[in-house]
Amino acid sequence: MTEGATIVAVGAGDPRRGAASAGAQNVDLAGRTLLPGFIDCHVHLTMSAEAAPRAIVSPADQMVAVLQASTNALRTLHGGVTTVRDCGAPHGIDFALRRAAEEGLCVTPRLVLSGRALCMTGGHGWHLIGREADGADGLRRAAREQLKAGADNVKLIASGGILTPGTNIGNPQFTTDEMKAAVDEAHCAGKTANAHAHGAEGIKRATLAGVDSVEHCYFIDPEGIEMMLERSTVLVATSAAVRNVVSYGVAAGIPSHIAEKAQSAISAHVSGFKAAHAAGIRLAMGTDSGVPFTRHGNNLDELKYLVEMGLSPQEAIRVATSDSAKLLKLDGTVGSLDEGKNADLVVVEGNPLDDIAVLCQRDKIRRVILNGRTVLDRDISAFLVGAGH
Ligand SMILES: [Zn+2]
Repeated sequence: MTEGATIVAVGAGDPRRGAASAGAQNVDLAGRTLLPGFIDCHVHLTMSAEAAPRAIVSPADQMVAVLQASTNALRTLHGGVTTVRDCGAPHGIDFALRRAAEEGLCVTPRLVLSGRALCMTGGHGWHLIGREADGADGLRRAAREQLKAGADNVKLIASGGILTPGTNIGNPQFTTDEMKAAVDEAHCAGKTANAHAHGAEGIKRATLAGVDSVEHCYFIDPEGIEMMLERSTVLVATSAAVRNVVSYGVAAGIPSHIAEKAQSAISAHVSGFKAAHAAGIRLAMGTDSGVPFTRHGNNLDELKYLVEMGLSPQEAIRVATSDSAKLLKLDGTVGSLDEGKNADLVVVEGNPLDDIAVLCQRDKIRRVILNGRTVLDRDISAFLVGAGH
């Protein structure tokens, strides 16, 4: 039972007795499942899943990107995701989006924002979402800049990446001491820090620097798994990102340098993830939505991949709800159907515990409620908010 923006009671039995006197509305969920709103800890709302990502340069590009980010956010919400962490956006577009949502100009999931991703000079992402910085003092300053602008999280680039020409995905970027300075700033401000890392060395440096989560971890090795376990560092797999680049490939217009790097990583990603999961590493859900063909709104495809890689459906759902809320330090307000939490709810057709794939079909996401407000109701065949897409 919800009241305003809050879940006020959870339980079995006939709710009508209590509800009738309160004049409440009952919703029949026969054949359906009620779940907490899902949380995606790794998206890029300013990127729109184009085959070849382009830098946002001119003022006109920036204005279009704001509108794209708004549409991407709404698609995400309609896909059952009520909280996202954006892991790098240029020109303050993510902060502008939050302000617009606060002013009622658009509707977005709950936003956890990073501003620009911090990368070394020439590091991965410098041309798309990066803020180049070098040396511990440089990193400290760059982190403070993002926090000043409103960041809830400081994003670090700890290895080369798939989208940046000329960077080898296995190579480490930043020293541990450089990253430590930025992590320290984030934690002093009561915020989180995370790192993009593919290569084994970058994963270890980021973990030693004290980040809360390491993203991708495609080439994680046993020593890295051990280090993350010791420090309770969370792994955010972004399996969708590498799978989509590999399956669409150059035939769909993806530049060959991007397709080749993804191809070289995918088997290591699957085996590394399985080893990390078997070792008991903490997980949270992230997709990297916005990178080529990882489309906003299809975020829950990631749960299918997590199940393919060994999680039970129940485990995958927990990773994408309460475990992700914990990573984002939002577990006091969202991530589970508990009394007192925010009413972020999703109603799906069928039962994802029997078939996780129901979460991957947008027409099976019947209803989405954010803070007690219905933002999608497919039963009245209309989007209450936003255009039909
Ligand atoms: Zn990313």
